[in-house]
Amino acid sequence: MEKFQLNILGCGSATCTTQHLQTSQVLDIRDNLFMIDCGEGTQLQMRRMKLKFARLNNIFISHLHGDHCFGLLGMLSTLALLGKTGTMTIHIFKEGAEFFKNALDFFAYDMPFEVKFNVIPNSKAVIYEDDAITVTTIPLNHRVPTVGFLFREKPKNRHINREMTDFYNIPIYKLNDIRKGADFVTADGKTIANELLTRPADRSISYAYCSDTKFSKKVINAVKDVDWLYHESTYADDKYLSARKRGHSTAREAATVAHEAGVKHLILGHFSSQYNDNTRFKTEALEVFHDVTLAKEGLRIDLTK
Ligand SMILES: [Zn+2]
Ligand SMILES: [Zn+2]
Repeated sequence: MEKFQLNILGCGSATCTTQHLQTSQVLDIRDNLFMIDCGEGTQLQMRRMKLKFARLNNIFISHLHGDHCFGLLGMLSTLALLGKTGTMTIHIFKEGAEFFKNALDFFAYDMPFEVKFNVIPNSKAVIYEDDAITVTTIPLNHRVPTVGFLFREKPKNRHINREMTDFYNIPIYKLNDIRKGADFVTADGKTIANELLTRPADRSISYAYCSDTKFSKKVINAVKDVDWLYHESTYADDKYLSARKRGHSTAREAATVAHEAGVKHLILGHFSSQYNDNTRFKTEALEVFHDVTLAKEGLRIDLTK
């Protein structure tokens, strides 16, 4: 399977503690890095986790609360000092694009790379696409406009069965079509079915990031059947009312989303600084959903599993 790896840089909520940093994570998809949110401390975490700055060309900002974007300016400025070239695209709401554009004009007007702002809507839309993946926004239910992001690999090519393609003397220039599912027609007009010439493609991976949000039925529909769901769980059961009031979820609610959406794995994060020990998040979530991982700074998860 080709690489599809999640790196947790920060998984605390608004207040930084010695235990947790503000939100940021990096998806490494076939050696291209995609950053989701960029709280304070993100550039240091990139170094600690030995993630290559040069491979980062897209940053997705879920909403304009400081704990999800205060690290952006510092990191872009460091990238300039490191001599980054090419283009960095920031996928962000309109107000964020305006704010950071002004700030960059003031602090970093001679950047050696281009910063592009892709203004994203507060509704469902495909906001990024390349040969390998699409990224779709997931409208969330928070105190300010907020979207999650669904990263989905496109269907992959089938694997060539060398023995069979050699047996039928299939020319190399035909192999690409065969990887995509084409049959082969021999010189004497006989059709060789694709299933005989190939083995099935690897499955395509999907990863949904949902932070920050209240429990929402709409989110359940948006993340139906994804492989991996990262869902915020700022609070545990004891602070259910705080979750309601502040537009956040409890671990149990995150697990309910995972269960009802039929996802395969759940990752919890965005933990409130009011908790010294996060084990109760896992205990409460496991009462509803069977596969729960607690996010942690420095954690890497192979999402192909
Ligand atoms: Zn937050
Ligand atoms: Zn927020």
